[in-house]
Amino acid sequence: MSTIDSMPVVNQTEAAPIASAGAAVIRVEDAHKYYDLGETRVHALRGVSIVIGQGEFVAIMGASGSGKSTFMNMLGCLDRLSSGRYLLEGIDVSRHDKRALALIRNQKIGFVFQGFNLLARTTALENTALPTLYTKIDKAERGKRAAEALAMVGLADRAQHFPSQMSGGQQQRVAVARALVNRPSILLADEPTGNLDSRTSVEIMEIFQSLNDKGLTIVLVTHEHDISQFAKRVLVFRDGKIRRDDPVVHRPKATEVLKTLPTLED
Ligand code: ADP
Ligand code: MG
Repeated sequence: MSTIDSMPVVNQTEAAPIASAGAAVIRVEDAHKYYDLGETRVHALRGVSIVIGQGEFVAIMGASGSGKSTFMNMLGCLDRLSSGRYLLEGIDVSRHDKRALALIRNQKIGFVFQGFNLLARTTALENTALPTLYTKIDKAERGKRAAEALAMVGLADRAQHFPSQMSGGQQQRVAVARALVNRPSILLADEPTGNLDSRTSVEIMEIFQSLNDKGLTIVLVTHEHDISQFAKRVLVFRDGKIRRDDPVVHRPKATEVLKTLPTLED
C-alpha cells in the first residue's frame, strides 16, 4: 500500500524554495566518469552539473545503472572524476590525490549506505565513535561526541548494545550517528532505507528531516517515490545525466506520517 495519499502535508510556504538555499556547499561542473574494464569503457557520468546549497535536502532517483552511486561516491570523495570539476565548500577537490580526499572525507562528509556496516563485536557507542579515531580529538571528547550523535538519532539508551541486539532500523540509526560524529558539512546516504520496512524507513526520514531542520545539508539516493518526497528537491538521473530537477511541493513531515502508520510489535 502506498502511504502517499494519507501523508499529511506542510504548507507550501514551509517547503523551502531552492532559491533561498544558502551558499553552495556542492558545485559540480560538467562531471564525467569512465570506468575502464579491459577492452570496454563504461561512461557512468556524462556531463553532470549541479549546485547544492547549504541546508538543502536533495533526493536522487533514477533507474539502476543510471549513475547515482557513481555520483554519490564522487560527492563523498570516495572516487575521482575522469573530467570536470567538483567544488566542496568552494574548494576544488577534483584534483586532490587519494590521501587529501581521505582527509576531506573524514572532516566534511558523513556517509550512510544500504548495508549498515557496523562492527559486530563492538557496541553502538564504539561503532559511532570509530570515525573520531582518525582525528586529533582526545579520548574523553570522542566518547562525548559519540554519545551526542547517538542521542541525535534517538538511541541514547542503546549505547552499550551490540548490533546483534538491535533491529535493522536501530542499526541504521547507529550508522547515521557514526556518519554524524565528526560533525560533517554534508550527509550523503545511498539507499539508506533499501533494507528497511516502510515504517522504519519513515523513522529514518524523520531523523533526516530533523537534522536538515538544524541546517545539515543532505543528499539521499532512493528508488522509492514516497521516500523522495521527504526531501526538498528531487533529481532524476538517466544514462549518466540529470534529466529532472524539481522542488518537492507537498512535502510530508515524517513525524506526522508516523502517526498514521501502524506500529509493528517486535
Ligand atoms: P546506480 O547507482 O544508479 O545503479 P552506478 O553509478 O552504480 O548506478 O553505475 C553506473 C554505471 O557504471 C553502470 O553501468 C555500472 O555498471 C557502471 N559501474 C559502476 N561502478 C563501476 C565500477 N566500479 N567498475 C565498472 N563499472 C562500474
Ligand atoms: Mg547505486
